This record gives sequence, C-alpha cells and structure tokens, in this order.
Amino acid sequence: MEEMDFENRIVAPEYIADDSETEVSLRPKTLDEYIGQDKVKENLSIYIKAALLRHESLDHVLLYGPPGLGKTTLSGIIAREMGVNCRVTSGPAIEKQGDLVAILTNLNEGDVLFIDEIHRLSRSVEEILYPAMEDFSVDIIIGKGPSARSIRLDLPHFTLVGATTRSGQLTAPLRDRFGVLLRLELYTPEQLAGIIERSALILGIEIEHDGALEIASRSRGTPRIANRLLKRVRDIAQIEFNGIITEQVVQSALARFKIDELGLDEFDRKMLSTIINVYGGGPVGLDTLAAAMGEESITIEDVYEPYLMQIGFLSRTSRGRCATKLAYEHLGIAVNESTVQQSIF
Ligand code: ADP
Repeated sequence: MEEMDFENRIVAPEYIADDSETEVSLRPKTLDEYIGQDKVKENLSIYIKAALLRHESLDHVLLYGPPGLGKTTLSGIIAREMGVNCRVTSGPAIEKQGDLVAILTNLNEGDVLFIDEIHRLSRSVEEILYPAMEDFSVDIIIGKGPSARSIRLDLPHFTLVGATTRSGQLTAPLRDRFGVLLRLELYTPEQLAGIIERSALILGIEIEHDGALEIASRSRGTPRIANRLLKRVRDIAQIEFNGIITEQVVQSALARFKIDELGLDEFDRKMLSTIINVYGGGPVGLDTLAAAMGEESITIEDVYEPYLMQIGFLSRTSRGRCATKLAYEHLGIAVNESTVQQSIF
C-alpha cells in the first residue's frame, strides 16, 4: 500500500495550512449568520441578552466538541454580540504563569478571552485561572527569598471562553468555574450544504444545490472540512470543467482525492479494515488499535471516531472498539457471523 500522508489529510478536522487564506473571511460574524447548533445558539443568545440588560460581563463559557465545528468562531461572535474585544490563545501556547498574568492584566472590562485546547494548560498555569475566573484577581509573587511577598492584582471583569474536545478532559476545579457549558454537535448534511453555499457566495464560486449537498455529505459533519473540500473541488471545476460545481464535478474531484461518498479517506478505511482483518471485527482496545495505526490514542478518539460512530460504522463497548455490519458492507468484506460480536448487530 502506498504511503499515506496524514499530515496533509484533506478530511482532517483540525486546522491545516491550507485553510489559512480563507479561514477568517469565511467565519460568520453574528449568531444569525452562524448555521446550525440551534440549541447552543438559543442558550447563548439568552445569556448574552441577559448580561447586556444587567450591564454585566457574560458568565464564563465552556464549549466542547470535536475540532472544526465552530468553537473559535463562536467565541468571536460572543465578543461581537457583547460589544467587546476577543483575545485568542491556546492551552499549549501559555507556558508559564507569567504569560497568563500578562494576558489577563491586558484585558479590558468585559473582554472575551478565548483559550483553545484549554485542557492542555499546565497545572500551575491553571491555578492562576481559578481566582481570575472567580474573583477577577491574581496573586503574584514579587521578589525572591525572604523578601518575597505576594500581592493581589485586580483584573477587569472578563469572560473566559474555553474550548476543548471533551469536557471530561478538564480538571474538576476548572470545569466547575464555568457557568455555561455548551456541547457542539456534528452538523447534518443539510446544514453543511447551507454553510457551503454561504462560503461559495463569499468566495465567488458557482455551485449548484446538488453539488453543495454532495460535498456536504462527504464532509464528516464538520464545517472546516466542508469549506476545504469546496476549495479543492473549485480548483478541479475550473481546470477540467466549466467552473460550475455540480454533483458530478464533486464526484469526479473527490474520487481523485480518494474520499468516498461518505467522506471516509484512506485512514478511516485502513482503521476499519484493521479492526476487521487483524482483530476479527473487535472488540479491540483503543491503545492496541492506536499502536497498530501508528497514531496517538487521543487522536483516534477525538478525531477519527466521532464521525465513524455517528454514521454507525464503529461502536465503543466496555471491552473495546467493534466494526459494525455497516462497516463490513461499506468495505465490501463478507460478514463472518461467528467471529463478529452478535451484540453489535
Ligand atoms: P473550531 O474552533 O471548533 O476548531 P472554527 O471556529 O475554527 O472551529 O471553525 C472552522 C471554520 O468552519 C471557520 O472558518 C468557519 O468558516 C467555519 N464554520 C464553523 N462553524 C460554522 C457555522 N456554524 N456556520 C458557518 N461556518 C462555520
């Protein structure tokens, strides 16, 4: 089998270099422009209106869900609707306590501080956040040795918007300090088609509704992937067709990228066929599977599994991962009833 290029995986839900030129222009700026996630939008709009009425900052918000679903976008929208600025950073970018103190003391009253991958903050940095979130203050130590003393600095009343792939990854003291917990779900093909049509309009791309739906159904429930596929398909539509994206153009373009009609790429197919061919369909433990795939367990769990589970190809049991009958059928592998877990059918 030829070498797979996972670094540049077209259907990766995480941000890749390819997204940079359009990521900002395609971001919806208001709650109305933000398609889907109706429950999240409804809750947020109530909290925002209430905070504005009381002339207070919005309670701290934790957004969780797989990558590429619009968490960063939402934090920008929250700031805009509140009429404040949004400062964006991430867990791994804040190395020392001092880095976070510098960010916090530079915020203005009411500002939104967005921390992506907040579960990756180090313990010592996290401890700075507790009083900052609760009392809007930080304690800093000045000087060294016997003359060292602690002073308390008051902070502006800010809103922390934290993003994580799973709320369970957060420590309890941090999670408990968020007043609003919102879970983002994978998008339906209809919602994604709406996002694709909006992006096409912004980028000046001609696309038929059937073409948008065809891209949507291969975008793994993820807006970031939908926008990326739209751009890749546009290139092919311009070079090989008359520039208009139709259903047939999408099919031809994505066949070339080895992305099938459900949006699965070589990695997904290899993972499913490994479970089936090497582990008899499962159950196989997450760590064993990750080692066989040469990936980290957490990546398998957060990046690959949510979509495979959503389309019913993979089930998680207490004893491990199992490929379902649908996965066998999709890969064209005959189901051997005796080796496959009865419980999963
Ligand atoms: P996350 O922070 O969850 O990884 P982002 O907020 O960076 O995801 O979203 C990735 C891209 O997907 C954005 O550039 C934006 O254009 C698009 N996007 C995300 N959610 C929506 C949405 N609800 N409506 C329209 N576009 C969206």
